[in-house]
Amino acid sequence: MMVLAVENLAATAGSTHRRIDRKVLDAMRKVPRHLLVPQEVRAEAYQNRPLPIGYEATISQPYIVALMTDLLDVEPGHKVLEVGTGSGYQAAILSGLVNRVHSIEIVEPLAKRAGEQLAALGYRNVTVRAGDGYAGWPEQAPFDRIIVTAGADHVPRPLMDQLRPGGRMVIPVGEGGDLQLTVIDKSRKGRISKRRVLPVYFVPLTRKASSGG
Ligand code: SAH
Repeated sequence: MMVLAVENLAATAGSTHRRIDRKVLDAMRKVPRHLLVPQEVRAEAYQNRPLPIGYEATISQPYIVALMTDLLDVEPGHKVLEVGTGSGYQAAILSGLVNRVHSIEIVEPLAKRAGEQLAALGYRNVTVRAGDGYAGWPEQAPFDRIIVTAGADHVPRPLMDQLRPGGRMVIPVGEGGDLQLTVIDKSRKGRISKRRVLPVYFVPLTRKASSGG
């Protein structure tokens, strides 16, 4: 039902984006969204709207998840970094599309819950850790793709540095809460190009005081 809603929305969203790729919709169809959200909101898991997952975090509405996954333009051999694990829903979708997913969540209990739930559901190529994703995951860099699922007022420099030449980042970015879903490409020679796709709403990318920045 939900994927149908996503397809319908995608078909009418021509002014902002092409149709969502079939393989993205197939990957979404396989993920049990209700098992990744907290018990209290399970009944609403298959509606096309954002859901609260505790600790002031929300999963985006499925259409935005679909659009971001589609824009990421992943290939099966890719290694992907996600900043903002939240429920683990986006990570689970990516799990079926790429080789490895590394996901960072700043709220420890969310990181713990998502990591445990993803493991219990058998998503073996996803690794979750608690930490400030602004700094990326240097030990695992470089990444073919980076997806940021919290709103940033600028593109974190460490993430740009950890993006492989020829790689792509999808990130909601803007000042004063005026976020634009943005696609950033790094050419093989390291040249950066940016494209704004759509105004969006996301919870803010927060910083740990201890991270020094
Ligand atoms: N992708 C998630 C939804 C993310 S909501 C899903 O599929 O469920 C945004 C998440 O980003 C929240 O859980 C929030 O705690 C987290 N976040 C905010 N700032 C962060 C940071 N600096 N590093 C890592 N995670 C962060």
